[in-house]
Amino acid sequence: MDPQYLPLVYDRLNAVCFGGRLRPALIRIHPWILSKDSPGARLAGAWDAEGWSVGLDRALLDHPDLLFGVLLHEMVHQDCWQQDRITGHGPLFIAAAAKAAASLGVQPPTPGTAEMWPEPVPRQLLKEI
Ligand SMILES: [Zn+2]
Repeated sequence: MDPQYLPLVYDRLNAVCFGGRLRPALIRIHPWILSKDSPGARLAGAWDAEGWSVGLDRALLDHPDLLFGVLLHEMVHQDCWQQDRITGHGPLFIAAAAKAAASLGVQPPTPGTAEMWPEPVPRQLLKEI
């Protein structure tokens, strides 16, 4: 996927899943993203409130279906941050992700699946955006 389309995908997901309420964020492509919580662990994506940006692993550009799921996941983190400066995969994340899932017709997360949600990324996600 050409990264120039990422802002369009972000805008479309923002409109469909979040009613357009997310404040536009930068999308940054990184060669890798390391976890701040688990030293040495590599992440597919990360919401960065300080930089008001969503970071995505460059490898996702070759896997658009996974990329859309990771982007959506990080946008849910952004939504939680905008609502209440909440991080993590607790009740607010699950509620926000469930709303996004409902607007796309995909499975909502549970406390046990929130960290990896939406995984596997349903193919219909690609058709909806
Ligand atoms: Zn997460």
